[in-house]
Amino acid sequence: MNQEINLTLKPEYVEKYREGYPLLLKEAIADWSKVEKEGSVLTLFDERKKFVAKGYYGLQNKGHGWILSLDKDEKIDVDYFAKRIKSAIEYRADFFSDETTTAFRVFNAEGDGVGGLSIDYFEGFYLLTWYSIGIYEHKAEILEALQQTTNYKGIYQKKRFDAKGMYLDDADDFVCGEHAPAPLIVKESGVNFAIYLDDGAMVGVFLDQRAVRKAIRDTYAKGKTVLNTFSYTGAFSVFAAVGGASKTTSVDLAKRSLGKTSEQFSINGIDPEEQDIIVEDVFNYFNYAVRKKFLFDMVVLDPPSFARSKKHTFSASKDYVKLLKEAVQITNKGGVIVASTNAANFSMMTFRDFIFKAFKELKCKYTVLESYSLPKDFRVSDKFQEGNYLKVVFIRKLN
Ligand code: SAH
Repeated sequence: MNQEINLTLKPEYVEKYREGYPLLLKEAIADWSKVEKEGSVLTLFDERKKFVAKGYYGLQNKGHGWILSLDKDEKIDVDYFAKRIKSAIEYRADFFSDETTTAFRVFNAEGDGVGGLSIDYFEGFYLLTWYSIGIYEHKAEILEALQQTTNYKGIYQKKRFDAKGMYLDDADDFVCGEHAPAPLIVKESGVNFAIYLDDGAMVGVFLDQRAVRKAIRDTYAKGKTVLNTFSYTGAFSVFAAVGGASKTTSVDLAKRSLGKTSEQFSINGIDPEEQDIIVEDVFNYFNYAVRKKFLFDMVVLDPPSFARSKKHTFSASKDYVKLLKEAVQITNKGGVIVASTNAANFSMMTFRDFIFKAFKELKCKYTVLESYSLPKDFRVSDKFQEGNYLKVVFIRKLN
């Protein structure tokens, strides 16, 4: 049983939480000493002892926990979580009935009312991701709630407990039900993906890029040469190839990306031998490509927000301009750069400034064709826009 503790908010924070701000900030509470155990249910009061909100204590890089309810009589139990999951499922009814897309997010943390927890759906299987020990302490109730509200084949989990959200590799990703085949073949916009639910931190696809992949396939790829950098399992390359790209080149540092990318091509009837899949540091590859005067019709940039390789450290907020400049140099006149970032520490406006700066420094003209943020299933709380981390801009290089 998780402890229940009463806490007093500092006066300057009371209004913020009354209005529905979901993240429990360390600085909003003077006295944390009463709270010992992650998972504790916290009832927050103002200085006159009037109820403000209920939440839980869980340490993430983002804060000290999340608000769960503005109703003082709400109990944080199986019924509470079942109600939240049910309404999350109803919000995504169109996804459940779409046979061409069988992988999507069912529950998006604070966007669906419970920060620190996400649930993804893969062809009848559910994957829970726990972002703190605090939310994991509520596993029994959440699992029971999920079992009550869904017809699942099997349930899996990922623990991302430490401050950086790193995956805890303790080999108990399977939770209950049937074991999923490995790979589990799911569909997205009619394209196949091979998913591994029990093989480390990442399952094979980032679901938040669905609309971007579809746009690449349907609007941009036909007859084009496509360079996909930071390609992971090659999802953008596969969509480009399915959309009729004349050739794709995928570049990723991780050795596993070669086999994984070949597999994604193969399960879509594309011969991987006819595509280039290169295991290499993207920054080395750029040097090489510039030297060789390679030119592509389309270049996809999707770096992690922070990465360290043997020779390079990349931080999206500091180094994106430089990355763009390299891409611009190897993009054909009239070609398209897809610039993407999942860095939550800068806004779309700042990202557009990075693009402006990169082209300006190269004395090159461009036009922005379209941009994307998170899709509908990655629901964002209107009280917490920081949750809307994804920024993708399609840019045409004009000269
Ligand atoms: N674009 C991918 C997701 C990228 S995830 C998709 O749509 O699925 C980030 C990837 O960047 C990881 O696969 C990681 O191996 C790779 N990576 C990180 N630093 C790199 C570097 N310096 N050079 C090449 N790849 C790198």
